[in-house]
Amino acid sequence: MAASGRGLSRVIGASSCPAWRGAHWEARGRLKPEYDAVVIGAGHNGLVAAAYLQRLGVNTAVFERRPVIGGAAVTEEIIPGFKFSRASYLLSLLRPQIYIDLELKKHGLRLHLRNPYSFTPMLEEGTGNKVPRSLLLGTDMAENQKQIAQFSRRDAQAFPKYEAFMNRLALAIDPLLDAAPVDAEAFQRGSLLQRLKSLSTLKPLLQAGRVLGAQLPQYYQVLTAPITKVLDQWFESEPLKATLATDAVIGAMTSPHTPGSGYVLLHHVMGGLEGMQGAWGYVQGGMGALSDAITSSATAHGASVFTEKAVAKVQVSSEGRVQGVVLQDGSEVRSKVVLSNASPQVTFLKLTPQEWLPEEFMDRISRLDTQSPVTKINVAVDRLPDFLAAPNAPGGQPLPHHQCSIHLNCEDTLLLHRAFEDAMDGLPSHRPMIELCIPSSLDPTLAPPGCHVVSLFTQYTPYTMAGGKVWDEQERNAYADKVFDCIEAYAPGFKGSVVGRDILTPPDLERIFGLPGGNIFHCAMTLDQLYFARPVPLYSSYRCPLRGLYLCGSGAHPGGGVMGAAGRNAAHVVFRDLKSM
Ligand SMILES: Cc1cc2nc3c(=O)[nH]c(=O)nc-3n(C[C@H](O)[C@H](O)[C@H](O)COP(=O)(O)OP(=O)(O)OC[C@H]3O[C@@H](n4cnc5c(N)ncnc54)[C@H](O)[C@@H]3O)c2cc1C
Repeated sequence: MAASGRGLSRVIGASSCPAWRGAHWEARGRLKPEYDAVVIGAGHNGLVAAAYLQRLGVNTAVFERRPVIGGAAVTEEIIPGFKFSRASYLLSLLRPQIYIDLELKKHGLRLHLRNPYSFTPMLEEGTGNKVPRSLLLGTDMAENQKQIAQFSRRDAQAFPKYEAFMNRLALAIDPLLDAAPVDAEAFQRGSLLQRLKSLSTLKPLLQAGRVLGAQLPQYYQVLTAPITKVLDQWFESEPLKATLATDAVIGAMTSPHTPGSGYVLLHHVMGGLEGMQGAWGYVQGGMGALSDAITSSATAHGASVFTEKAVAKVQVSSEGRVQGVVLQDGSEVRSKVVLSNASPQVTFLKLTPQEWLPEEFMDRISRLDTQSPVTKINVAVDRLPDFLAAPNAPGGQPLPHHQCSIHLNCEDTLLLHRAFEDAMDGLPSHRPMIELCIPSSLDPTLAPPGCHVVSLFTQYTPYTMAGGKVWDEQERNAYADKVFDCIEAYAPGFKGSVVGRDILTPPDLERIFGLPGGNIFHCAMTLDQLYFARPVPLYSSYRCPLRGLYLCGSGAHPGGGVMGAAGRNAAHVVFRDLKSM
């Protein structure tokens, strides 16, 4: 045990107390009565939008309701001495151009690549195996094949072909992420010039089709089928299939048996880091350090970022044009355009005067699927978890598997399906799916020496439980205790190492981060809410029925994840519109 952990006080159920202890963000710039553009919310997408607009010469101010910037990409010291990526914790999806355009490294961004990246320990009770088996995956294909061969030689042979197949799909989707979707609205109702211009939005779609070529039908199946059906065509061993299936259900209230789960899997393999396709890594200092780097880039060019300045209302002129915002404190800030990083529901149902939005549009927004299965538990520990399947080194220093996404209760797809079924019955899963990460295994700046921060991304937990039961302190702690019991079975001694915990159920994620239903992507990434149907059909180009108001967050194309794409694409659409105003 790490001696330095002794003497730390225990903070249990930290989410229930006002325990935020991070440094308040210093407002950058003095509040002026007028800007060219106002951004509601300093999530990473809002910050990216501001950074691009300001670089293009559009004077931009960002107003954030919380004392911290970053939205769900934030670092908070919830337990003294321990810095948590309180919501999102792994980086991969951020669009490559954003690193370059915004000079993020110059503005302090440091990354820790993970290799290996995935570890699935087994329990194998009663099998006679003294050390249970585990599946460790990384970038070395020959090593991966050795690992997979423990469970199936046939799967080991198939794995490189599967990877190549999925990589091609990720490559095809790539250009679709960096532009507004096909503008069906302009096609349908625009002037001849607008219709001709909107033809260019078809280009990325055609590019994607060209990459997929004759295999298009197989890829169509990946996007629309249940992931179990797709994986069954490739593999036979459950530990491998279940490990891969976790990416198809993560953040989604779906089972691996649900049609369309393949797209979520793709969404989690289409990123990359430092030029390595599909790689995921940790941001030094936690996810908030990424938001800090984007902010530094934006403010260096003259953008202003204000915290604890909630926007109460979008201001609309009598002619039906956006003319700024009113802040919660009553101050009015004028602007030609307003970009909202808040979710579509918050933007249109709470912040926009209803009389300016058509009934049908409002109806669709109010019906968006925002179900979410996620409860995030941030844990401070005074030593590294010691897994039965990969015992710790005598000195207790991190081993390769500690830097991975550690998948618990994930050795069989049936376990994932059952965990989902519990939530459908209105119960938190009896054996939840757990993704355990230890960012401090690579980044020692996050915890006192010898101690660690552990991120538990768990599902499935319904927003409201059977019989209308709500998540009170007792329910919250009972669920966290169950998760800890599960971890204890794989890594005895874990419970004794816990110094403090912060439990964020779906209602907590909604309250703290403004995520409707606790949905980590603002609204579900189901096929009916993607591409030209995100957030709703006909309004996927970041514009909405009210002139001058735009979405720039995860509720818009291409959706959630720390990607920056919605912010960047929206900034370009807004810049084009400003030129014609
Ligand atoms: C628990 C959890 C784990 C996740 N893990 C990962 C991960 O590991 N990797 C990954 O890529 N993605 C992950 N995600 C998803 C990802 O974090 C989000 O999709 C993404 O950060 C959303 O960014 P955004 O800028 O679009 O919106 P948000 O981050 O939601 O930002 C919106 C901002 O608007 C502010 N706001 C709202 N209303 C107002 C108002 N009226 N006035 C002023 N401000 C307002 C909010 O406070 C917030 O700061 C995770 C999400 C969660 C919740």
